[in-house]
Amino acid sequence: MKQLLKKYFGYEEFRPLQREIITHITEGKDTLVLMPTGGGKSVCYQLPALMMTGTAVVVSPLLSLMRDQVEALKANNIAAAALCSMNDDTENLIIRQECRRGELKLLYISPERVLAEAEGMLREMQISLFAIDEAHCISQWGHDFRPEYTQLGTLRERFPQVPVVALTATADKVTREDIAKQLHLREPKLFLASFDRPNLSLDVKRGFTRKEKNLAIVEFIQERAGSSGIVYCQSRKATEELAAVLQRAGIKATFYHAGMAAERRNNTQDDFINDRIPVVCATVAFGMGIDKSNVRWVIHYNLPKSIESFYQEIGRAGRDGLPGETLLFYSLEDLILLKKFAEESGQQEINKERLDRMQEYAESSICRRRILLSYFGEESSHDCGNCDVCRNPPLKFDGTVLVQKALSGIVRCEGKVGFRTLIDLLRGSLSQEVSEHGYHRLKTFGVGRDIPARDWKDYLLQMLQLGYLEIAYDDHNHLRVTEAGREVLFGRQTATLVTIDREERELLYNRKKRTAAKRTKEAKLFKSEPTPLNTRDTEQLFEALRALRKQLADEEVLPPYIVMSDKVLHLLCQHRPTSIEAFGEINGIGEYKKKKYGPQFIRLIQQFV
Ligand code: ADP
Ligand code: ZN
Repeated sequence: MKQLLKKYFGYEEFRPLQREIITHITEGKDTLVLMPTGGGKSVCYQLPALMMTGTAVVVSPLLSLMRDQVEALKANNIAAAALCSMNDDTENLIIRQECRRGELKLLYISPERVLAEAEGMLREMQISLFAIDEAHCISQWGHDFRPEYTQLGTLRERFPQVPVVALTATADKVTREDIAKQLHLREPKLFLASFDRPNLSLDVKRGFTRKEKNLAIVEFIQERAGSSGIVYCQSRKATEELAAVLQRAGIKATFYHAGMAAERRNNTQDDFINDRIPVVCATVAFGMGIDKSNVRWVIHYNLPKSIESFYQEIGRAGRDGLPGETLLFYSLEDLILLKKFAEESGQQEINKERLDRMQEYAESSICRRRILLSYFGEESSHDCGNCDVCRNPPLKFDGTVLVQKALSGIVRCEGKVGFRTLIDLLRGSLSQEVSEHGYHRLKTFGVGRDIPARDWKDYLLQMLQLGYLEIAYDDHNHLRVTEAGREVLFGRQTATLVTIDREERELLYNRKKRTAAKRTKEAKLFKSEPTPLNTRDTEQLFEALRALRKQLADEEVLPPYIVMSDKVLHLLCQHRPTSIEAFGEINGIGEYKKKKYGPQFIRLIQQFV
């Protein structure tokens, strides 16, 4: 098994659970695989496909996913094809013939087609196994329910001797059980991989205004020039606006959302996959069909509605195992909007609960990875050291007086104020709302003048999280003081708040300081994780390798990451192989790529040795 892994995929070692899963499948048993995005699910059914006689039939929900997988397999000289509407009739005819003659090791197919062919072509084939990719699509409980998936359970009865493996990155327990049931799996063994992705850094920025967010994003991207990333926005309009902002700053960026014509969407996706446009501002419609392994960062412009979707989205960064960065912007406005959506949704309780957990992540004052992992039912015994809380533990102070000021403001307005007016009241600004209701005559008017409005917003968020106040979403988002809040208001309890870190934002406006801060940050990074790019020469070699990869990819009309992953390029930089044998020993270079690409890469590397 290990030899085949090296020969075809170029990898030296199995990732956790891969070996066990492969063994189980090749024994002809049904299997349910839960692994995070980027965990290495494909190998789990592709290697059995190579080991077993016949053709593996892989059901996949998206054309682009199928195409990507087939290209990656072919690039490793594995006989694979996708039967789909993107091919013309002749192509599909040829694929059918190949299937009947048993010439393919893997056949990718859509759920509709697999059912349509079940009593036809599939009967004439020797099928080694069925793999149901993105299996959560079968469940109404999952977040991507697809009606086309519901009939797939009949495959189990129609082909009783063929093992079925279902794979998904959705860990939800309800969904998991539903998948096994709907697919009629026979005593399936569940393989649950760890959902930890230690190479992804986690970062949350709170209370940025739109302008501040835009500025921060521009700088973030400029500091990582040329690297691929996605900015997820809540609305279609926001994706277009942000893309324009980035373009004005000289960044090669574009947008993507479901409101665009299909052709334009496909082109955008292609440009991203082929490294022609590094940055895409997108709604969540973007990404499910993307296997691009060298996405280096994912930014959330707005708060996502659940940890489930958040994790799926950030999971698109760093699939190749190299560091990936994630950044979430969190604001009160987003929270209020999402709460409202949740209230109005069909599954109110579930959606509110999901949002609460997301909020917990965004507001956490303990290691954020612990929150994520505990959501997926994993206990972690240590802080991760790769999230903003770990790197920069929050400072706390006695905020009792501050809380009392805010809460007494709410009480004096008889629970008829929202956030904005309350802040006006505390800050002593005579807004229309304030004067209309005569709030300027209250004792609390102006008691919080010394604190900027946006800091008040932040503190109020904290009070919300601490449970001192709540928002009446069904009553104009007015604020209410809770029982716990009263305890503080009447001096029976003290309140601890977290100081607001303004440093980051000030740095945005102050280049010199920022560069200095960046250097210390980098120094720290290098200490914990030596990256190979530490000398100029290496950097030049990396760029040269990247250019060669792009050239080869263009010649073959393939995405660059299919020719070679970023990780392989880094390893080439580090080890600088100058013989074919040494080139073949690089993790990620299989036999076929060794012969095919070796000579050109070696020639290039020799110039640097
Ligand atoms: P998933 O489908 O779970 O999101 P993939 O199957 O696309 O993940 O794998 C993610 C990345 O990890 C791919 O680049 C893949 O080639 C790589 N990979 C898979 N198995 C191994 C392994 N044993 N060693 C090194 N890399 C691996
Ligand atoms: Zn941490």
